[in-house]
Formats: sequence, C-alpha cells, structure tokens
Amino acid sequence: MNKTRVTVWSEGIDPVLEPRAIALYPDDINTYIAGFLGKEEDFAVRTRSLHQPENGLSQSVLDETDVLVWWSHLYDGKVSEETAERVVNAVLNGMGLLLLHASLGSKPARLLLGKSSNTGKYREIGEMERVWVVDRSHPVVEGLEKEYIEIPGSEMYGEPYGMPVPEDIVFISWFEGGEVLRSGVSWHKGAGRIFYFAPGHEEFPVYYHPEIQKVIANAVRWLKPVKGPAVTFAGEIGSMEPIKNPVKG
Ligand code: ZN
Repeated sequence: MNKTRVTVWSEGIDPVLEPRAIALYPDDINTYIAGFLGKEEDFAVRTRSLHQPENGLSQSVLDETDVLVWWSHLYDGKVSEETAERVVNAVLNGMGLLLLHASLGSKPARLLLGKSSNTGKYREIGEMERVWVVDRSHPVVEGLEKEYIEIPGSEMYGEPYGMPVPEDIVFISWFEGGEVLRSGVSWHKGAGRIFYFAPGHEEFPVYYHPEIQKVIANAVRWLKPVKGPAVTFAGEIGSMEPIKNPVKG
C-alpha cells in the first residue's frame, strides 16, 4: 500500500507568552497532531516547524509531501516569502493543504485564497461550540457518530468571517454566545485541494477530542493528490487537428 505522506507543520509555542498552550502541547501542536495521525495505517507522518532551515519546508520536503497540515497564529510574519511561494506552488501542482484554526492568516493561505483571509470576530474565553455537519455526502464526515461535535470550551470565530466563498461547506459551528461560523470548508486550486477546519485554539484541548481527530484524519485522506494526467503548460500552441481556413492564415 502506498501510504499518504503527511507533513504536519506548526510554528512553535513560546513557553513564556503561551503557558496554557505549552501545558497542553509541551512538544508543540505538530507533534500532538502527528501522534494521532500516525496511528492511521495508511499515513506516513512527520513533523516540521518554523524554526528549522527554510522554515522546515524545503523543496525536497514538499516534494515528498502529499498533504501538508498547517497550524499558525502568531508568527506568520516569520515565514519567508520563498517558503510561502514553495507551498503555494506545491498546492497548485497537487499537494493537499489542511489549514487549521487561525491558519487562514498564514502567508500561503493569503496567496492562495486572497487578502480578505482571517478577518472576523473572535472571543477566547472558552465557551461551548457545536460543530454541525451540513454536508452529509462529504468524505470528511465519514464515521462521525452524531450530526454535530460538541466542544465544551472553544474559541469563538464569528461570521462574517473573511474567507472567499467556499466550494463546499461541510461544517457550520454554533457558539454558546450566539455567533456562527462556516467552520469546515474547501476550495480547489490548480491540481490541489484546500480544506479549512476552524476548531483548534491552542489554550483548550480541542485536538484531544476523538471526533475532531477523526475529522482531521478524514480531511487528510480527502486532500490526497489525484494521480491524474501530466499537463504541459506551453503557452501558445499549434492545433492538434487541422483548422480549415483560419482568418490569419
Ligand atoms: Zn486561537
């Protein structure tokens, strides 16, 4: 079996600035996510992070990645333009990209999805979130036990949330304080696919939740590149068939 090669990337946690996050994720969020994804037999998982050379995402790493999982919120400005470009090109050439939580604000997301990304309301006091399944046909909901996932303490992200109109809306979240969010959505870009899944604030144990883990594993499977035909982008080309009486001769 050809395993899906998954690279889980995160930016690192500052123990002084983010003590609650470091308590939940002492080895960083990438390691935690890689831990549960690594239990899936069809995945080969590794971690990368911001502080490694080339931000952990050299061309050779991306060449060996089928799906990149991205978690960032504070240090998007520290990702180099070159790394962001490499990620964008990899997606356009077929690599899947799973954007988690605040990652719509990351450089690759902004390049792929536009500058309106990551504008919206938020409140991080830890309130109940119900993540409702609104598309029962989508592979990302495979195996979920209920028609919603309940997260006891979550960060609220509220609409209107700054994202381009999604091609699929798989989840809509309702928050205890009254707001709603399109919390699981997707787009196609070139040969690649992008899924955004909003739950995952670092100060609450959202990624400990088995149903959230299931969604993330399903999303990785859905994002796996399709082995379609190679396409040559050659600019102006001659015709494959004879054209009768072209105006310009
Ligand atoms: Zn957050």
